[in-house]
Amino acid sequence: MKKNLVILIAATILFSCKLMPKKEEKENIKPMTGKNLYGMIGADSVFQYTLTNKNGMVVKILNYGGTVTDIITPDKNGKMGDVILGYESLDGYLQTGNPYFGCLVGRYGNRIANAKFTLDGKEHTLAANNGPNTLHGGLKGFDKVVWNVKLSTDSSVLLSYLSKDGEEGYPGNLSVDVMYTLGPDNALKIEYAAVTDKATPLNLTNHCYFNLSAGTDSNILDHELMLKADKYTPVNATLIPTGKIDDVKGTPMDFTTPKKIGKDLASVIGGYDHNWVLNRSGNDLELIGSVYHAGSGRYMEVFTTQPGIQFYTGNFLDGTLKNTRDGMKYVKHAAICLETQHFPDSPNQPSFPNTILKPGETYHHTTVYKFSVH
Ligand code: BGC
Repeated sequence: MKKNLVILIAATILFSCKLMPKKEEKENIKPMTGKNLYGMIGADSVFQYTLTNKNGMVVKILNYGGTVTDIITPDKNGKMGDVILGYESLDGYLQTGNPYFGCLVGRYGNRIANAKFTLDGKEHTLAANNGPNTLHGGLKGFDKVVWNVKLSTDSSVLLSYLSKDGEEGYPGNLSVDVMYTLGPDNALKIEYAAVTDKATPLNLTNHCYFNLSAGTDSNILDHELMLKADKYTPVNATLIPTGKIDDVKGTPMDFTTPKKIGKDLASVIGGYDHNWVLNRSGNDLELIGSVYHAGSGRYMEVFTTQPGIQFYTGNFLDGTLKNTRDGMKYVKHAAICLETQHFPDSPNQPSFPNTILKPGETYHHTTVYKFSVH
């Protein structure tokens, strides 16, 4: 056990260095100016970190849940607006029923069937926080913990969290680093790295709710989505993949060419809340999708190293959330999530790509949301 911890700490130091800026990047780093106390959780201070770039784009991030609270980008007339849903203060993010606005998700993003899985012959029981299933890491996932801040500059924040062996039922001490970087090209890059001292399922993602109209449109039905995915994973009544991998061609799930989200939405029971299987051969960072909002001219491209993406149309938003920004009612379909990920329930689905991280391995995942106007 002691030996494992030493290895874990050594590996943590190593892979943290991997997420640290390179020497030439360091020369451009100025001390961060935008760090504000946002609230307290018990004895823990929650800070809001403001990243900026030369174009005036602004991204704000909390060390609580690694939550992105604001992504402020220009429209086609240069008017700045916030393209994600959020609350006006920490109380909003802490309220029961906060639907994971902007946060980091772990240890396992999306659902694991019947809140259990078997690994190396041992059954592990998780919290059933979504009907019979576990969702987004359980009762207190990575979205509900205060992360350490290892480094912050005007363009990046490096967060870390040690998830202890047995936390939420998952095996192994898991050390996670996540670095948010705002680039000069209006791209928000999220880099994830993790090591463990026992084999564990791992599926990290971010849960921003995007509405590119920045408060003009109450829903995203007019947004045009493109996903480079010929296939998706159909689900059962509790949103667990059936194990089949179906073609999107000729179905409402086809976004291989840009399509208004509202076009076929009504014919999908419950709305879009599925995992698309991305067309890709390796693990390189690739463009896998885009969203366009003609009214504002805003365009967002999504790049990832992951094999799947959860496209969710805010089906469970019903206008009742409290403490929302400017008192806005976040109604059904107010925003979309594009959660780059491994497939839901992979620990119970041997035919899906592997999600087990073993001691001695390092988990890596990079996702980029890049903003422009057309
Ligand atoms: C899930 C939805 C869930 C939402 C908020 C998405 O990732 O697929 O079913 O309601 O997150 O929790």
